[in-house]
Amino acid sequence: MLQYSNLETTLKYYFGYDNFRLGQREIIEEALQNKDLMVVMPTGGGKSLCFQLPALMKKGVTIVVSPLIALMQDQVETLRKNGIAATFLNSSLNSYQVRSREQAILEGKVKLVYVAPERLVSERFLPFLDLVNHQVGIAGFAIDEAHCVSEWGHDFRPEYRQLITLRQRYSGIPLFALTATATDRVRADIIEQLGLQEPSIHIASFNRQNLYYEVRPKTKTVYAEVLELIRESEASTIIYCLTRKQVDELTFKLQHDKISALAYHAGLSDEERTNNQTRFIRDDVRVMVATVAFGMGIDKPDVRLVIHYNLPRNIEGYYQESGRAGRDGEPSRCTMFFGVGDIKTIEWSINQKTDSQEQLIAKQQLRQVIDFAEGTDCRRTIQLGYFGERFLGNCGNCDNCRYPKPVQDWTVEAMKFLSCVARCKEKFGMGHIIDVLRGGKTEKIKLYKHDTLSTYGIGKDKSLDEWRMLGRSLLHQGLVEQSSDGYGVLKLNSLSWEVMRRQRNVSVAVLTVQRENVKEKSQKAVAAEMLLQRLRGLRKSLADEQKIAPYAIFADSSLKLMSQSLPRTKADFAKLSGVGKHKLTEYGDRFVAEIQAFCRENNIPETKIIETKTQFTTVSDDSPSTTELVTLQLHKQGLSIGEIAQERNLRSTTIIRHLSDLIEKDQSIDINQLVDLEKQKKIRQVLDILGDISLTPIKEYLGDDYSFDDIRLVRGIWRKKGKK
Ligand code: ADP
Ligand code: ZN
Repeated sequence: MLQYSNLETTLKYYFGYDNFRLGQREIIEEALQNKDLMVVMPTGGGKSLCFQLPALMKKGVTIVVSPLIALMQDQVETLRKNGIAATFLNSSLNSYQVRSREQAILEGKVKLVYVAPERLVSERFLPFLDLVNHQVGIAGFAIDEAHCVSEWGHDFRPEYRQLITLRQRYSGIPLFALTATATDRVRADIIEQLGLQEPSIHIASFNRQNLYYEVRPKTKTVYAEVLELIRESEASTIIYCLTRKQVDELTFKLQHDKISALAYHAGLSDEERTNNQTRFIRDDVRVMVATVAFGMGIDKPDVRLVIHYNLPRNIEGYYQESGRAGRDGEPSRCTMFFGVGDIKTIEWSINQKTDSQEQLIAKQQLRQVIDFAEGTDCRRTIQLGYFGERFLGNCGNCDNCRYPKPVQDWTVEAMKFLSCVARCKEKFGMGHIIDVLRGGKTEKIKLYKHDTLSTYGIGKDKSLDEWRMLGRSLLHQGLVEQSSDGYGVLKLNSLSWEVMRRQRNVSVAVLTVQRENVKEKSQKAVAAEMLLQRLRGLRKSLADEQKIAPYAIFADSSLKLMSQSLPRTKADFAKLSGVGKHKLTEYGDRFVAEIQAFCRENNIPETKIIETKTQFTTVSDDSPSTTELVTLQLHKQGLSIGEIAQERNLRSTTIIRHLSDLIEKDQSIDINQLVDLEKQKKIRQVLDILGDISLTPIKEYLGDDYSFDDIRLVRGIWRKKGKK
């Protein structure tokens, strides 16, 4: 029976990564067993690797179905940069190119072939596939963006429906469907429409831990805040606006302020759009100001900031758009500006809809967005709840968790506000009411003699924004109403009167714009940052030479590691995450030279790299890696898995893998400290019966009382026994 304990080594060899992300290992193990699979993971979760790694390990070629030309070219380019034999066939090639690529495939020189669905099932292509299958074998079909098969998804493509042909024609070859779409309906559709057979289904959490979510009130300072955010982040940024006009205006203003920014919307020619998009992807331009037309099929992994300048139309859209930040797992920020004006604009466009059902749905979606924006709970709780995922809160990485908004008793202010509405005879909108409260001297006030009202000027102690916030909150809580004729006239209801009679208290979550304290940076951090900028420059010039996107050379995270750990030799450089064998050969010298030069210029003394990671030289080596040894040491000190994970700032699954590998490598691990005795016994029995297969079927057999962790650890012991 095959053993996959060397998967990490293979991962490092091809992709340069040290560890699998959550879920990847299990999926890959199953893919290697030729099962039909459906994988649902959020954007940036690392889906591609789940079929790419097995494709490299299996005999024959893997066919990847991908809907967009840009997307497939991007993926192939990234793979090639890792020295992986991948190619694509699409309408951008001339017939000569197609023929020579087909030839290479038939000669077994290619491991991954990306094809558009309509080509794949065409009369001309299927016979070619038969030939491929006959000569080199087809290892599997990976269907990317599989939600395109469903009318219930957000991107239905009829040509995906024809993919059922694959199942009929190649019944023995496994199908692997991947999507980031969360709803049940779409998942069921995928299984049915593609004809997946007893697929193993993996659904990852939609929680994007690396994203910081915040909602800021949209005040007069909004533009200044945007500018500051962009300047602070110093990295790729997308700003979403509601209309083309807003996109153009904002782009113009930013360019005027010397920010490198471009626009993207449906009003531009195809050529302009493609051009702007390429310049963004290649880091020629830093900020893309866009309508929601931008982003589909953009794989840029190092976007660090996504700003919603306007309120998004619904939560799903917001999740997808903001999710274009931090696909590479690095910390990134999602900032939404929430202003009452946007609600009006969206409401107006909803009212233009003729279909009453559509109108109703749109209104409900708007309500949900407003709830999210005004909510004082953990942003993740609200957002994931929308996808049916329960999240307990306290994420520590959203504005509401980091800066809980103080809920204040504003009953007195509410009474002032509402009685002013009453005195103005329920004929005016919020702006006028606030003017009266703050003792304004407007024409309207003079005209209606509202400066003679008893409520005139009783609210001078609060700012315009504070009164607006209260007004909005009253509306949101249903304590006052607003006419929907476009004028937004405030009307009292029975609850308003309860407040005014002091029968009801009013609490308001007080929104204050808070910013993180800028910590004093240590000298070391400053040096690292300087070097990072230099390495970015080097990456950019190499990318330009080769006409590719900078991230295809090294991810941001790898550059950061370089600038922090300062590898001065190629051997040290090879140890960094993201440096595979191929990239080491191609770029190692240039980067090491740059780092050496930087250290010389800044008189930085040589220090040892403490943490060494899996190396590709340890293929058949049974001695523990350094990182495993650190885990071992902490285990011996009696720390629990959770404690070790915390101490080392690693995932607990990683620690468990260390421990199970350590067991297999004959290190003394006290299994009894980790897994209950009875459970151990039972798991071993099952392993004796089922053999060394992947974890999922074993877990299915054992039931919910047994975790993957338990099984993995006991399997380690069991395997060790097998070796002896
Ligand atoms: P998805 O298709 O799910 O949106 P991708 O497959 O594009 O996500 O992966 C997102 C990013 O994460 C890519 O830059 C990829 O190289 C990186 N990545 C994937 N797996 C790992 C891993 N095990 N360790 C580090 N980075 C990874
Ligand atoms: Zn939170």
